[in-house]
Amino acid sequence: MPLRVFIVPRVGIGPHKLVKVKCSSLLRSKLLQGTVSVTCAFLTSYGTMPTRGTPTRDGKVEAPGERTCRLCWGEEDEGPLVQPCACRGSQKWIHKHCLEKWRRTSPKKDAAYRCGQCMNTYGDALSLELLRARLQAERADGEYTVFTLNRLALELQDQGKYDEAEPLHREALEVSRETLGDRHPNTLGSISNLGALLYAKGDLAAAEPLIREALEGQRETLGNRDLSTLVSINNLGALLWAKGGLAAAEPLFREALEVSRETLGNRHPHTLTSINNLGQLLQAKGDLAAAESLCLEALEVQRQTLGDRHSSTLVSIHNLGALLYAKGDLAAAEPQCREALEGQRQTLGDRHPDTLDSIGNLGLLLMAKGDFAAAEPLLCEVVEALRATLGSGHPNTLASIAKLRRLIIIRRLPGSSTYAFLPYIASCSRRSLYLVSVTLASCSVACFAMICTYISWRFS
Ligand SMILES: [Zn+2]
Ligand SMILES: [Zn+2]
Repeated sequence: MPLRVFIVPRVGIGPHKLVKVKCSSLLRSKLLQGTVSVTCAFLTSYGTMPTRGTPTRDGKVEAPGERTCRLCWGEEDEGPLVQPCACRGSQKWIHKHCLEKWRRTSPKKDAAYRCGQCMNTYGDALSLELLRARLQAERADGEYTVFTLNRLALELQDQGKYDEAEPLHREALEVSRETLGDRHPNTLGSISNLGALLYAKGDLAAAEPLIREALEGQRETLGNRDLSTLVSINNLGALLWAKGGLAAAEPLFREALEVSRETLGNRHPHTLTSINNLGQLLQAKGDLAAAESLCLEALEVQRQTLGDRHSSTLVSIHNLGALLYAKGDLAAAEPQCREALEGQRQTLGDRHPDTLDSIGNLGLLLMAKGDFAAAEPLLCEVVEALRATLGSGHPNTLASIAKLRRLIIIRRLPGSSTYAFLPYIASCSRRSLYLVSVTLASCSVACFAMICTYISWRFS
């Protein structure tokens, strides 16, 4: 089952500026079909939404009658209440219309795209609308546009709109190189951002020199324990893994996690991402016990600190499903995969890279259970969406087409429903799965039937 590596770092740059680098992309490692993502953001000011009282993180579930808007104190009868971010307790709910008004009119620059309390980005169409308008106004007034360029590019990247993000990243980097020089932390952040985007687009050859340049510069100018350096260490690890270098990636993931635990603590979002990354890598190596303990650690803290519907929590839920799948426990894996997918469809939309990952994985899971009829529409949905968003030549699109083709071949086999051992084979060993896949892809039905008979006998 495809795995997923998420890198969600936050980077301190200079005394007054923060760069948040949220890494989210889909990259397929050769052996594991793992996925990796990267995104970044420049933040210059923290805007805090007016609030009533101190947010709590008690995770308490309140009855509908107890829900009140954190801005106007009104209840549900005055308009729909939504949870737009990771805030908890009395800060959890807000009217949709109150939030939109705040985002459109607030003097705080970051109110357009993120919550000023928990710093979660909203990741929606309104963020893009407001940032696009701001960029246009800055260009018209001849103002410094790098912050808005970066922010908009990151929002676009987070929403899977890579082609639109790329020229903005390039423009921001060009301006930073010219005005600040190649070794300034902000320039290094822009280099890292562009590298992360190219990585997300699957262009590993173009991404690698940028990610290496950023890391080298950050190690020299910021040191090995700075958050931006940790982000780049993770990113390089993810890149090497995507290139097939599992062994080269492991020491980088371990370094990033060790330093994150020491400097940021065990509950920091970046540490949790590092925990997830290392867990995914260990799973890929076949060390399922170690992977499971890391996965459960990350998920538990994310449920407590971010809530059950946060995109990072949903990734961890999905990862746990993938891990259970890898252990052969399909019954336990399915509810995890479904929970992650349902949350992503609702919070991120049907075409977000995370959602597409989860759709494809649920399709594979159903295939492994022998429910080919339920799997097919899911795999078709992924192919169509990836063609539309990443293009027909992207490695992820090609991989999704290969899966769908395999499924269609199985379903077309005369009497395929009688091959009761197919699901068993699909889930029981990588070797037999490989054998079946190769056969399905290249052999005649007769040859396939012979090999299936052999596998059936071999595993019975
Ligand atoms: Zn309200
Ligand atoms: Zn919040």
